[in-house]
Amino acid sequence: MILLAKSLRRIRNFTILTMSLIKFFSTNGHLERVDFRQALLVGQAPDKGLYMPEHIPKIPNEEIQKFPKMTYPEVAYEVVKPYLGDLVPDTALRAMLQDAYNYEVPVERVFDGKYILRLDRGPTCSFKDFAARLMGRLMQYFLKQEGKSLLILTATSGDTGSAVAHAFFGLDNIKVVVLFPEKEVTERQRRQMTTLGGNVYPLATAGKFDDCQALVRQAFVDPDLRGLNLSSANSINIGRLLPQAVYYFFAHSRAAPNGEDAVFSVPSGNFGDLMGGLIALKMGLPVHRFVAATNENDEFPNFMRTGVYQSIKPSKNCISNAMNVGHPSNLARLFRLYGGRMDETGLVSKPPDRQAMHKDLFAVSVSDEETRRTIKETYEKHRVLLEPHGAVGWAGLMRYLKECGDWSPCISLETADPAKFPEEIIRATGINPPLPAAMARLDEREEHLQRIEGDYASLKEYLGRFL
Ligand SMILES: *Cc1c(COP(=O)(O)O)cnc(C)c1O
Repeated sequence: MILLAKSLRRIRNFTILTMSLIKFFSTNGHLERVDFRQALLVGQAPDKGLYMPEHIPKIPNEEIQKFPKMTYPEVAYEVVKPYLGDLVPDTALRAMLQDAYNYEVPVERVFDGKYILRLDRGPTCSFKDFAARLMGRLMQYFLKQEGKSLLILTATSGDTGSAVAHAFFGLDNIKVVVLFPEKEVTERQRRQMTTLGGNVYPLATAGKFDDCQALVRQAFVDPDLRGLNLSSANSINIGRLLPQAVYYFFAHSRAAPNGEDAVFSVPSGNFGDLMGGLIALKMGLPVHRFVAATNENDEFPNFMRTGVYQSIKPSKNCISNAMNVGHPSNLARLFRLYGGRMDETGLVSKPPDRQAMHKDLFAVSVSDEETRRTIKETYEKHRVLLEPHGAVGWAGLMRYLKECGDWSPCISLETADPAKFPEEIIRATGINPPLPAAMARLDEREEHLQRIEGDYASLKEYLGRFL
């Protein structure tokens, strides 16, 4: 009898657990909790904080052991589902994932248990497609339910803009304004944003990425613009992060099918990619350590060394341009994950547990010179063509192995296709990287863009036209 009551209770608890939805809270401490749908549609919390799941669900080890036999969309389902609860019916979710992830995700062996995860096979040839494509589909699903429309306003250091623009292109209830620093993106990155037209509005400024990011955040809290129903597609949005936890599980299932602890190296700018990895870790992925590799914008490696956070203003223009971030917005989440607190300006009101961070993270800054040398040497030694971002990750991994001893398996993330950065690749290797099919004829298409001054009044005036 007692046994029966116990098992009944267990079943009931289990049902309650699976049915109850994970709530999301703001890193700035605002009291309201929201569900995934709300967090996705508003992007930034009303107090300018970032949404974080109140509780991170664990995937049981027996489930993770099944991943080596699953396809990418199947793994994605297992990782994302717990956050969605019943907000999206299973069949709709599975269809969305199948449709979003209809391209290859190669895990390439370089040498002895050292792999490269190629995240560059999506339609805009950067890893940002992974997040943007699922996020776009989820947003469209929820908006249709409510008969609402949305203006996506996003700041980009190069690749977010095009991934988001492509993911939302042609949807009739969503418009996309992409704000980017004109001097800091390559011609091909720019063309990926400016040659779509339709519901995509590219907007160039003379400022830097950090300025664009600050302007966008200001627009979100401007009461005069409330009628626009603004949302962010930056890695401010939790909808970007969860899909980025998936490929860590997938890569691990291929490189470590027996469940070994892996080292991941993550080329980092705004730290959304790394946050995806840390969420995967908290969900139960067997990880030995993450290498957080930055370019010369080394505010995070400096913090790890000294315990003092100092943003870099203005940010440095490095050749891995999508990582030229002087104050990464996702550090607010990262600090929170380790018990600290940082607001959107970078003010740390409670230091995180740095010892626990060191256990999980090895932070390293890679100079442009080392990045170029890495592109050259990796090609000469292994016949593997890396672009500047992936090279920062690979150089970070090599540094880690040298300082902390050999480890297998190791997985370094390659976040873009080399053809996005032909100038640097030719310079380092003499090879003109072949243009992937997704970028064919990009250089011939007509461009549409507008330019504004780098101040908030100009952005506000521009956005006014959509009211
Ligand atoms: C955005 C981007 C990064 C940095 O990712 P974060 O999530 O901002 O740290 C790295 N590489 C490429 C190619 C990118 O587009």
